[in-house]
Amino acid sequence: MIRIAILGAGGLGRGMATVIEARKGFQLVALADRLGYAYNPKGIASSVLGRDLESVADLPEGLTSDEAILDLMQAHGDQIDAIFMALPNLPVDFFAKTIEQIATETPFQGVVVDALKRTKAVELLLPLNELLQEQNITYVTGCGATPGFLTTVAAVAAQSFAEITAIDIYFGVGVDGWEKYRATVREDILHLPGYNAEIVAAMSDDDIKALLDERGGIIELVNMEHADDIILELAGVCDRSKITVGGKVDVRHAKKPCSTTVTMKGITAFGQTTQHQFIVGDETTMVDNVCGPALGFMARAVEMHNNDLTGLYTSADLMPKTSAEGMRLKANELGREELLSL
Ligand code: NAD
Repeated sequence: MIRIAILGAGGLGRGMATVIEARKGFQLVALADRLGYAYNPKGIASSVLGRDLESVADLPEGLTSDEAILDLMQAHGDQIDAIFMALPNLPVDFFAKTIEQIATETPFQGVVVDALKRTKAVELLLPLNELLQEQNITYVTGCGATPGFLTTVAAVAAQSFAEITAIDIYFGVGVDGWEKYRATVREDILHLPGYNAEIVAAMSDDDIKALLDERGGIIELVNMEHADDIILELAGVCDRSKITVGGKVDVRHAKKPCSTTVTMKGITAFGQTTQHQFIVGDETTMVDNVCGPALGFMARAVEMHNNDLTGLYTSADLMPKTSAEGMRLKANELGREELLSL
């Protein structure tokens, strides 16, 4: 059993609790939110995380805390195998600061996966590679739907081409009520023209509601600063300038406003110009497509961790490589050679 802590117990954190129960070999033992944390080595059932539960601090095993993540990980970090980061990444350095604190101030030595979205957030995580290696932590970033599921579909699809000319990711998301996924909706709004992270951080929930009312509950996003670009670039698939991410979010209906697609254009080794297109099933929810893949990446990362592969990786590092250029052989402390991308 992989003993899991979920940091952030909002829409996706609670959704992850349900996904964990639907899959074999995982056990939820801890959750933390803004008001406190809960730890139970016998497991925490998703059924206790109903909508009327304000905070996990209100669970029978819950404790209130102003520093829930630090307190949880200091008290129980050595009894947790893997963390799912379901926190708002506002400000954009929140994940990097949080993982640095976990690595330096708690006994945790395991796996972390996140579902972050922004390119800048990945850039801030990259310098932590050495610290994570020293602290015996394997961190895989970009493990949600996009980046994550869709990015790695692109990394696999790229294998048919000698040259990638364009990758376009377009997501359709439907949720019945923005309050269920406040951080997700806020982080989408900051990509709208005229908005940024500072402006969104200063907006009250009423301001957000007013903005959504003005737009009939629909947020349309083009050319987002989305980490699919840096992740595919780091994996050697193509230059980030060839990657575009956009989407349409309906915060009033669970039905998706459009299908989610990944379109890959390229030229084959035999000179054919063509494209692949991958379409995500309309019936799948945001939780299915964020938490399902995150759990899958987590299981793979636990295997890597058990084989002494620590440090910072992206979800696309776990996929086939497009090119062997820019790769290096590095001897690890066991004397075996492992292939690591730069
Ligand atoms: P939410 O607003 O519903 O929940 C956030 C949770 O984090 C809450 O429980 C809150 O109490 C907790 N929290 C906030 N600050 C905290 C702190 N300092 N310490 C402890 N807990 C804290 O958020 P959500 O809509 O579930 O989104 C979670 C994350 O998932 C966001 O970063 C969002 O951008 C990301 N996301 C990623 C993808 C993807 O495909 N990559 C898709 C959707 C959402």
